[in-house]
Amino acid sequence: APAPTALDVKGIWSGYGQITVLRDVDLSVPTGAFVAVLGPNGAGKTTLLKTIAGLIQPSQGTISLGEKDVTKLRPHARRRENLCYIPEGRGIFRSMTVRENLRLQSTSSDIGEVVDLATEAFPVLGKRLRQTAGTLSGGEQQMLAMAQAYIERPAMLLVDEASLGLAPRIVDTIFEFLVSVNKRGTAVLLVDQFIEQALSMATCAYLLSRGEIVRSGDPSELAGDDVLGHYLGHT
Ligand code: ATP
Repeated sequence: APAPTALDVKGIWSGYGQITVLRDVDLSVPTGAFVAVLGPNGAGKTTLLKTIAGLIQPSQGTISLGEKDVTKLRPHARRRENLCYIPEGRGIFRSMTVRENLRLQSTSSDIGEVVDLATEAFPVLGKRLRQTAGTLSGGEQQMLAMAQAYIERPAMLLVDEASLGLAPRIVDTIFEFLVSVNKRGTAVLLVDQFIEQALSMATCAYLLSRGEIVRSGDPSELAGDDVLGHYLGHT
């Protein structure tokens, strides 16, 4: 049987050198769940995802994937524990072709199969295989970055601001894709500025402010909560 939680973050303190950003953060993503992290600019959302992905080492606390403590593991070792991280800005190799990017993203050595899966996820990529990734449209670049979540079927997917700078129609495509990936069994932890859409997809939401979790719970409860409006500057 799968572990009850895909991700467990306990008592995390993290930041950059002398700068502490995250203060005693607890967060957990049940297996197969869809969790949204909301919060104002500078709250520490990106820092949280980077810490979970292993790009920043926390000064205190533990991070577990499934039942495994990965706190001391390097990013590539966390990947092997079925974690997939799609950073803000997409993290693709702009000077390489779409095909080369897909090969580098994937742990499979069967590039034909990888290309087939990527094209199944986003048909437009099939027409762009020889194109340099940096010359793709913003939406296509995001699809290229997202394809790995379909190819790898990770247990845990971290997505940072996937909708940034995209046209509304493309944002819908990306969000529908995330919902379908989640339905196939991947737990999702999403940071996004489209708060209402993020809450509508999520099974649970956390509100981060100044590096601390100030609220968490059912998205519909949070959506109607004055605290959310207060922190996100909507009131
Ligand atoms: P946004 O929604 O604006 O992207 P965020 O919630 O993702 O914000 P972070 O990017 O995690 O916030 O930043 C949290 C705090 O850490 C901010 O005060 C930011 O200035 C600081 N910070 C981010 N990156 C670094 C860095 N490399 N060195 C020092 N401080 C940093």
